[in-house]
Amino acid sequence: MSTSLFSLEGKTAIVTGGSRGIGFAIAKAFIDAGARVIITARTQAQLDEAVDQLGPQASAIRCDNSVPAQIVEAATAAWATGPIDILVNNAGVSGFFKRAEFVEMEEFDFTFDVNARGMYVWSIEIAKKMFEAERPGSIMSISSMLGVLPGERLGVYSASKAAVHQFVRAMAIEWADRNVRVNAIAPGYVATDFTHDLLQSRWQEKIVGPIPMGRVAEPEEIAGAAIYLASGASSYVTGTVMLVDGGRTVV
Ligand code: NAP
Repeated sequence: MSTSLFSLEGKTAIVTGGSRGIGFAIAKAFIDAGARVIITARTQAQLDEAVDQLGPQASAIRCDNSVPAQIVEAATAAWATGPIDILVNNAGVSGFFKRAEFVEMEEFDFTFDVNARGMYVWSIEIAKKMFEAERPGSIMSISSMLGVLPGERLGVYSASKAAVHQFVRAMAIEWADRNVRVNAIAPGYVATDFTHDLLQSRWQEKIVGPIPMGRVAEPEEIAGAAIYLASGASSYVTGTVMLVDGGRTVV
């Protein structure tokens, strides 16, 4: 198989939450594959640091995904730099680790605002611009294996990621006629700031024990699936939820 199948030469991508963790690893892999990348997040200092590390093919736009008006503005600003070929909805929050009866309504709303509505607004804003420009595109969302196999004390997070799966599937059906492919990557546990405290806690054994590969993932191990879904290698793939979980959902 020719490696050019996975080339992103001449493509422009947005990676939300690209300032650290999985989003940063995806942004780096996309640039290595030839793309120009715009990363977004809330913290300007971390965006600046990430752009420094990613080099001249990277730029940043500050945006809070819990605020739809900021997403509309950021999508317009991104498109103004040139047409977008790839959108990675990666920004997400877990927020809290609690049994259902202790969850506050503000926590519930914030989780759905960022994880489900945020990806929805980004997707429709970029898709509308792709349609208007009559350009094909690849939109992918980083959901979670917990959207398939819910996590204890992570019920709201798990439900918000299951919502992502259904949005992705519905958009894939609706936008196939415009040549815009829509997919999800559902990672298992990944070693980032997101899971740092949990993986240091007494829950570590319960989390890692049932993973057939016996370990959590590194952020770079999620980037391969993103390259595949962004590139011509996946030209006939839409509406899929790709598990990258070390075999966890098989057991
Ligand atoms: P992370 O290291 O905490 O990074 C999260 C990124 O999203 C940061 O760039 C963060 O920057 C940004 N972000 C957070 N809230 C945001 C908001 N309201 N608006 C805009 N940007 C926001 O997390 P990660 O582990 O890389 O996770 C990335 C994605 O993968 C998430 O969707 C997560 O649900 C999913 N995931 C993670 C794991 C895991 O085990 N780590 C497993 C499965 C799925 P700011 O804080 O500066 O905004």
